[in-house]
Amino acid sequence: MEFCDKCSSLLAPKKINGKVVMACPKCGAGKELSKGEQMQKQEIKQSDQESMVVIENPDELNTMPTKKMRCPKCAIVVDTQYWAVQTRSGDEAPTRFYRCMKCKHTWREYD
Ligand SMILES: [Zn+2]
Ligand SMILES: [Zn+2]
Repeated sequence: MEFCDKCSSLLAPKKINGKVVMACPKCGAGKELSKGEQMQKQEIKQSDQESMVVIENPDELNTMPTKKMRCPKCAIVVDTQYWAVQTRSGDEAPTRFYRCMKCKHTWREYD
């Protein structure tokens, strides 16, 4: 499994001119890897993978930092878990998401 360096999305393999290119479906960033490199990278990435999966799956955010925030659903200040996601290109500020630990409602930060 390969993840985008920019937005941490799962890259999808594409074959272009006989070469396998790992391309990000979200931001378009691509990685060109030989088969040997792919194998190596996969092994190195293995340890990173767990933290990546955690970010991708809000239901497993047990080790994320917490913050007191007002939940729009509960309408009271609650403990929330929060994380940042790089939405579009790398030069844009990442969007911060909050998740109410009481009702599990998840929302994004509005400035
Ligand atoms: Zn990307
Ligand atoms: Zn809530």
